[in-house]
Parts: sequence; C-alpha cells; structure tokens
Amino acid sequence: MDTIIAVDIGGTQMRAASYAPDKLKPIKQKKIATLASEPGGLERLTRVIEEVWPNGDKVAAIGLASPGPLDPHTGYLLAPPNNPEWRNFPLAPSVSEHFGVQAFLDNDANLAALGEYRFGAGKGHHDVLYITVSTGIGAGVIIQDRLLQGFHGLAAELGHSIIDPDGPLCSCGFNGHLEAFSSGPAIVKYVLGELESGTKSSMQRPRRGKREGNLTPREVAEAARQGDALAIQAYRRAGEYLGIGVASFLHAFDPSIVIFGGGVSQAGSLLFDPFHESLKKRVFHPRYLEGLVITTAELGDDAGLLGARALAEMKSSS
Ligand SMILES: [Zn+2]
Repeated sequence: MDTIIAVDIGGTQMRAASYAPDKLKPIKQKKIATLASEPGGLERLTRVIEEVWPNGDKVAAIGLASPGPLDPHTGYLLAPPNNPEWRNFPLAPSVSEHFGVQAFLDNDANLAALGEYRFGAGKGHHDVLYITVSTGIGAGVIIQDRLLQGFHGLAAELGHSIIDPDGPLCSCGFNGHLEAFSSGPAIVKYVLGELESGTKSSMQRPRRGKREGNLTPREVAEAARQGDALAIQAYRRAGEYLGIGVASFLHAFDPSIVIFGGGVSQAGSLLFDPFHESLKKRVFHPRYLEGLVITTAELGDDAGLLGARALAEMKSSS
C-alpha cells in the first residue's frame, strides 16, 4: 500500500501528516494556523499537504477531518462556523483535483472515534461509542467495524440528543439538548445562574462587562475539589444528564466500549461518579452493562489526525 496523508483542520490549527502503511509514526508532519475567518483557506490547506508530501513515494489517498456540518458522501463542507468562505464548499473534491489523488472528508468527532477505534482505546472492539465533552459534545459511532455516517452523513450527532425539550438553550439554537446540560459552557452557565440567584459559593460572579469566560469549567472543577457545594453540584448535574444521554445511546447502539474524550472528561470522579450512578439507574436492562468498558480516550490531540488517516486507508482500499 502507498502513503496516506491526513489533515486535521481545527479551529486554530491545521495539522497534516504523511504515514507509511503499518507505521504509527508519521513520515513527515507539519502544523500551521487555520486562520478560519481569513480568505485563502484552500491555499493554506494545499500548502500544508505539500509540506508533508513524501519524496518519491506514491500517495494512495488524503483524509480530511474538519468541524461539521459537512457531507462525507460528497466531501462538501455545509456551513462551518466562522468561515463564510467555506460555506457549501467542495473541500475534498478541490483537494482531490489539486493533487490528482482521492480525498475523503468527515467531521472531527466521527474521525476521533475512528482514530480511537483503530489506534487508541477502542483497539480490538467492533462496536464503539466515542463521546467528546468539551466546548460542545461531539460523538462518533462504530458499528460492527464500520463508521456510522448515515443517509445524509449527519449521523451520531449525539450532543444534540433531546434530553428535555423545555431545557436550557443549546449552541445550535434548540432547547434541552445533551450539550446544553453537560458541556463545559453548560456547567459554567449553571454556576453563573445559581450565583445570580444568590447561592453561596467560593466562586465569584464575573463583574458586569467582563466575559463569561472569566469562569472556566476547570475553575469550577478546582472549586469542587476544594469542597465548594455549588461547584460539586454543577458537575453532579452534568454527570447525571450525561448518564441519561448515554443510557439512551446504549439502547440505540449497544457498544462494547464507551470512550470519553475532551477537556471536561478530565474532571474524573466529579463527573463520572454521578454519571455511573445515573447510567446504572437508567438502562432498561442490566445486560447492556455486562462487559461494557467505559474509559477515556488515549490519542489526545492526535485522534482526529489518526482518524483521518484511518478513513483514507479504509476508503482507498475498499
Ligand atoms: Zn443542540
């Protein structure tokens, strides 16, 4: 098999790497600033791919990971946030045409799932549920060794599962999605709301005019570890709702492993003790939990890149 090139187009950085078959370490790798809101994105993308192009070797395929929404079947980006230039943009076809090589695109959460399945915590499993809890909640699902993409390529948007139609506003504009209960911003928003209504806490409400970013999920976790009751409750609530969501996902997909990525997942027992309690209470049959592995991601920032690699390998050899 020939060399595979993978690119992870993140919000701040574009990372590219070229891989020889069966080797985990890249032949070459390079990262540059994404500069999402500035023109010239495709030129930056082709340049970073050229930087990792192997000398003399043939390239079999290029895998691209990008934030969605996008269509993995056509390789089009639909409406990337902060980047009007790439609205309805034929990203994979443009790259493919430029280099004369097949190019494949999928969203960063799906590809992080694929990366963990092939090279990380999910190795050896055939049915994998990957959930990243950070600024948003992203997910990817592998069923019987295949990445679930769906008819429109929009499957596995589990962060937008409806937990309570009258619940808090989600980043997508709808109410009561899992992301609106259990993401980092949701945890902070809950704390700020409670402070506003007079709940006593060691955490301070940011002064008027300052950004909400003054309080971070990490600071809430820190306050919780110092014993702050409101901070503990904020994580307890997030974990409780995460358990409600995952119980439904077990009913839908029946995975053998659930892998948690993202910064909020690093809160450890603050989040996962209430999560486990909630999950146990809510699966409708204990069989779902028999032998089920619940663990954290292993690939860190490389998950998307390695997932893009795995996508290109799978698609180009099938
Ligand atoms: Zn939503």
